Amino acid sequence: MRALYPGSFDPVTLGHLDLMQRASRLFDEVIVAVLRNPGKTPAFSLQQRKRQLGLATADLANVSVESFDGLTANFARRQGCAVILRGLRALSDFEFELQLAHTNSSLCSTVETLFLATAARHSFLSSSVVKEVARFGGDVSHMVPAGVAEDLDRHFNSD
Ligand code: ADP
Repeated sequence: MRALYPGSFDPVTLGHLDLMQRASRLFDEVIVAVLRNPGKTPAFSLQQRKRQLGLATADLANVSVESFDGLTANFARRQGCAVILRGLRALSDFEFELQLAHTNSSLCSTVETLFLATAARHSFLSSSVVKEVARFGGDVSHMVPAGVAEDLDRHFNSD
């Protein structure tokens, strides 16, 4: 069974990576899909985010990295994914994620959304928190995969 793990990953965190590692043991194939969202101005370009994800998942043989625009449900169908994977960190994620899951199932009834609970040690992590800490020069090396902390430092502190 093939699963799609969609997100912005701006940038990928150890919370995302933990979810990918666990998903890689549950599914035959996992496609990590970076959403190209014209409504948001990301810190990292699509190419940078794909590179960061590619490096972070290099040792996971059944995980690949793609990008897409448009509806997640359509992309999942086109890729032959029976499952859309999302992570739940706290109750605050639940309302939005449930709405998204219902929307996707109304668009494509054959794709199921499955939620994985975040590892407790990563439950405080989000891409926004990581960017906020890096912006003010804090150490993010325990929050992101190897190499991403350097990318953040270059992004926020080079002039
Ligand atoms: P989006 O902008 O689509 O929410 P994100 O890149 O922020 O994309 O997150 C993608 C998915 O990963 C979401 O389901 C989110 O709940 C989940 N996620 C985010 N942070 C973590 C974390 N620390 N641990 C596990 N899952 C996470």
